Amino acid sequence: MIIQARDVSRVFPMPAGPVAAVRQVSLDIVPGDHVAVRGPSGCGKSTLLHMLGCVETPTSGQLLFDGTDVSVLSDAARSRLRLRHIGFVFQRFFLLPMLTAAENIELPQSEAGAAAEARRRRTRELLEYVGLTARADHRPAQLSGGEMQRVAIARALANRPRLLLADEPTGELDQATGAQIAQLLDRVNADGTALVIVTHDPALADHARRILTMRDGRIESETARDPERGHPAPAEAADKTIRPDRQLDVEGWR
Ligand code: ADP
Ligand code: MG
Repeated sequence: MIIQARDVSRVFPMPAGPVAAVRQVSLDIVPGDHVAVRGPSGCGKSTLLHMLGCVETPTSGQLLFDGTDVSVLSDAARSRLRLRHIGFVFQRFFLLPMLTAAENIELPQSEAGAAAEARRRRTRELLEYVGLTARADHRPAQLSGGEMQRVAIARALANRPRLLLADEPTGELDQATGAQIAQLLDRVNADGTALVIVTHDPALADHARRILTMRDGRIESETARDPERGHPAPAEAADKTIRPDRQLDVEGWR
């Protein structure tokens, strides 16, 4: 088990009163999982992703990463956990503009203390993996959106994380480029990294084996899919640990 979240909530204190962004979500992420999270804007998808990524801690409930309660860790220990075990991919890539593609991929390895030769080898391997060997020395401004996202995915994989989290990774890309990114993420998953992807893009969500739909801070439904066959997987494949708090109306999110 990579993540066990139990009744996890996140409340933001605001001048007009507290905002409950995520409400009592229970969710397991297992090795090799491939999960899509959908739902309307403001329903708490990014906040949930930040908690799964140990960026934010729940205000109530319990989140275990690899069996460790994240809320008892110091900020430094949580940073270390993220650096070594979790990769992040964002809608707007967030590459460092002054660094080349190769340097962007190398940076988290330096932060993790990898030796120079190992870093160079790993960076070459990752550039090849995402098909950008010829762009190694380009800066982000010299790359297309799809290329920047491929560099960002390579950077996210630099320290061989067990879990890769992506927030709208195709949100800035045209459909064809988005489809390439979806395929790359499929390969990352097939090669053994668990994925949780927040997306509005039905084409991207359709690659996942589990599709969670959020509304008002809750997971209101989970659909298990068999992407090989393109229709729902047998019932036993569904994650029985999900306990929706209320009955769902999923119309509009198909
Ligand atoms: P989504 O990603 O589904 O669009 P978010 O998780 O970003 O939703 O936000 C869920 C709710 O929590 C929204 O009402 C948003 O305004 C609020 N929220 C998110 N982050 C913060 C924050 N740092 N401070 C205050 N409110 C926040
Ligand atoms: Mg969001």
